[in-house]
Amino acid sequence: MTDASIPPTPAAPLPQGADGVSPFSRAGARHRFTARRAHVVSVDDVSPAMRRVRLTGPGFGDFASSGPADHVKVFFPDPETGELVAPSALGPGEDGIARPDRPMLSRDFTPVRVARTADGVAVDLDFYLHPSPGPASAWASGAQVGDELVLVGPRGSRGAPQGAAHLLLVCDETALPSATRWAAEVPAATSVDLVAVSADGGDWVADYVAATSGRDDVRLHPVSPGDPEALVRAVDAVGVDAATFVFAAGEASSLIPLRRHLKRTLALPAEQVSVNGYWKRGTAAFDHHAPIDPSDPD
Ligand SMILES: Cc1cc2nc3c(=O)[nH]c(=O)nc-3n(C[C@H](O)[C@H](O)[C@H](O)COP(=O)(O)OP(=O)(O)OC[C@H]3O[C@@H](n4cnc5c(N)ncnc54)[C@H](O)[C@@H]3O)c2cc1C
Repeated sequence: MTDASIPPTPAAPLPQGADGVSPFSRAGARHRFTARRAHVVSVDDVSPAMRRVRLTGPGFGDFASSGPADHVKVFFPDPETGELVAPSALGPGEDGIARPDRPMLSRDFTPVRVARTADGVAVDLDFYLHPSPGPASAWASGAQVGDELVLVGPRGSRGAPQGAAHLLLVCDETALPSATRWAAEVPAATSVDLVAVSADGGDWVADYVAATSGRDDVRLHPVSPGDPEALVRAVDAVGVDAATFVFAAGEASSLIPLRRHLKRTLALPAEQVSVNGYWKRGTAAFDHHAPIDPSDPD
């Protein structure tokens, strides 16, 4: 992270305690929807398993991301041929993209940081180098300065709630970039707990979260993957009350018991909780719009 880096613009603060304003309200924003050709300007291993790639390009001047759960669709070159088949922008300043009529290779990633440097606007993506690499993870493993990608989105943002006294994050490695944004984009007075699911014990997670979010007061609760009920126990141990906003993201199937617990047992209102499947074991290119729990879709 350079000194010139700034976190993505946080959502505008909501009036606290104003009549009729929920503490869980989240400011919405629309952004120009376009495809941006990008090249790599730096590659940094920010932890043993997390690689930060900084991207920029001529279309990045109006790149905006004001929500901690924002994502960009990243289009990668074909691993066999090296050809980058991807949507393209319409005319300058126009809203919309043109999609080629050919197969494309894309995955979702979190813009962890928008940096304004002397050379313009750049976006950092943090790639978790997971153990069964698909095209995205494999690309990140070999990423070099000058490599090209295409980024589409974010189309819109929902800011972090500015009135919640407590933020409870339940995230695996793929959602840690988002977790750092949640921690950074709630008010400093909001206390933050992070139930961190990590395959390697996660000794690096505390350093990663503190360095990336700029907050050193995030309370960490490590959990090993493979036992979905452990997430429920960890959340109960932390405690969820009427002032808590819960964001959970990671392997979709492992979140089913936690989602049920939050929705049914604790009966949290929808505005107080957000549960998101970021990938699914055994499924390449998991569609995060698919229901986490097919027997109980939203
Ligand atoms: C909104 C959103 C934001 C995201 N943000 C980030 C981010 O900032 N950083 C990040 O690293 N990821 C992020 N992800 C997750 C990322 O898109 C997936 O992990 C994606 O599957 C990786 O693509 P791949 O080509 O490496 O693997 P794929 O080709 O999709 O999958 C290949 C195999 O690897 C498995 N797999 C995928 N991910 C993992 C994993 N984490 N651990 C173990 N096995 C896995 C699949 O189940 C499959 O069997 C985000 C996902 C969403 C929906």
